[in-house]
Amino acid sequence: MREDYEAVIGLEVHAQLLTKSKIFCSCKNEYGAEPNTNTCPVCLGMPGVLPVLNKKAVEYAIKMGLATNCKIRNFSRFARKNYFYPDLPKGYQISQYDEPLCYNGYIEIRNGDQTKKIRIKRIHLEEDAGKSIHVHGKHDYTLVDYNRCGVPLIEIVTEPDIRSPQEAYLYLTKIKQILEYLEICDCNMEEGSLRCDANISVRKKGETKFGTKTEMKNMNSFRGVEKALEYEINRQIEIIEDGGKVLQQTLLWDEDKNRARVMRTKEEAEDYRYFPEPDLVPLKVDQKWIDELRDTLPELPVEKFKRFKETYGLRDYDIEILTGDKYLAEYYEETVKHINDPVIASKWIQSELLRVLKEKETGITGIKLRPKTFAELLKLVKDGTITGNVGKEIFNQIIDTDESPAEIVKKKGLTQVSDEKELERIVQEVLSENPNEVERYKAGKKNLLGFFMGQVMKKTRGKANPKLASDLLKKHLEG
Ligand code: ADP
Ligand code: ZN
Ligand code: MG
Repeated sequence: MREDYEAVIGLEVHAQLLTKSKIFCSCKNEYGAEPNTNTCPVCLGMPGVLPVLNKKAVEYAIKMGLATNCKIRNFSRFARKNYFYPDLPKGYQISQYDEPLCYNGYIEIRNGDQTKKIRIKRIHLEEDAGKSIHVHGKHDYTLVDYNRCGVPLIEIVTEPDIRSPQEAYLYLTKIKQILEYLEICDCNMEEGSLRCDANISVRKKGETKFGTKTEMKNMNSFRGVEKALEYEINRQIEIIEDGGKVLQQTLLWDEDKNRARVMRTKEEAEDYRYFPEPDLVPLKVDQKWIDELRDTLPELPVEKFKRFKETYGLRDYDIEILTGDKYLAEYYEETVKHINDPVIASKWIQSELLRVLKEKETGITGIKLRPKTFAELLKLVKDGTITGNVGKEIFNQIIDTDESPAEIVKKKGLTQVSDEKELERIVQEVLSENPNEVERYKAGKKNLLGFFMGQVMKKTRGKANPKLASDLLKKHLEG
């Protein structure tokens, strides 16, 4: 982005709530069921039916409000948002309009050493629509699946406080983290349980008025949001630089083509004709209930971060990773309990454990290795019984078995070779087998030390004490 411009971004995040049933009927709220099996007259919008509000959905929305420092309305109202679309059989969506359940909150994002507040304008409850499946072929047609009709959603809307695609990414990551900590949304973007629309405008730095915004839809990953924002910011700057005007439009992001296309322009903007939902009584939430819910909140990311900093003395960067997922944080703490070394545990979790999880495309709950066993392995490395490299090999071996590392060391004879005499013998062997390299080393090619180390490790199957081996090599090569 050009230095003389500034982006202004506001995000609208939709999160499906993990309730057992839908928001206004008792149909199951589950992803992936046979199409149109989780439906009833209420969520299909048959004439004469009446919605009944799911208390759990309200509870989850309030929890999110509390976790994001929002005020909770003791008296709020549902509203009808009228529009016609094949995936909306009722012809309107029950949402909230000018009296959302939660409002005026904020969360903090951390960018390097700096934290920044992003204000949350509102969090309201609404129902999801069904899903259209477009089939292309000799004859194009569309199928509709109404299972998703009436799935409870919260919509989290920020003030236009975000100033870059990167900040948007950090904000989304933080929102996801909070939803996961609260266990109210599974945050699976591929399955659509977490979705994001972005409002974007640009202005010259120093300008106080906002520019005309566009709204970008259809991004299906956080990186996708970041990319779409970058694209749109540049597009708007170009228009302004060319002397043109940005039109107030809704755009659709095309991930494959890496660009956006226009869905509608303001002139065609729909008027939703909101009015208070006549089939539902206003929602009364008394203070006692709010206080009770506040007491059930788990330790939230900000609090966990603070406690990790005080307890383990790690770098902010490391803490952010370790607390990114609450189960990972638990795993870390359990490991530290057994090895009593916060730094080694942090290092191995980040370099080895997270690498394996990424390869396996699973989370921390998807592996067999228990923190206690993991800590035993780290102890063997720490006290010098095995080398770091052998430790890594054993780690790969026990991740899915939880076998005892000490047993493996014993069975396979993997104890580190720290015996000076034995290592000296091996070093001399390596040197006499490679006279050419020795010549070249002596002539100044000092980086051949790595080659000799490799040979020593090969002969010891990775068991040579690295420091000792390197000292001995230098002694013989230079002495
Ligand atoms: P609308 O009535 O068009 O939906 P809202 O005031 O409800 O607008 O805001 C929708 C979202 O757009 C919010 O996240 C808000 O922060 C953001 N927003 C508002 N104005 C701008 C702007 N000029 N540039 C970027 N984002 C904006
Ligand atoms: Zn139903
Ligand atoms: Mg709006």
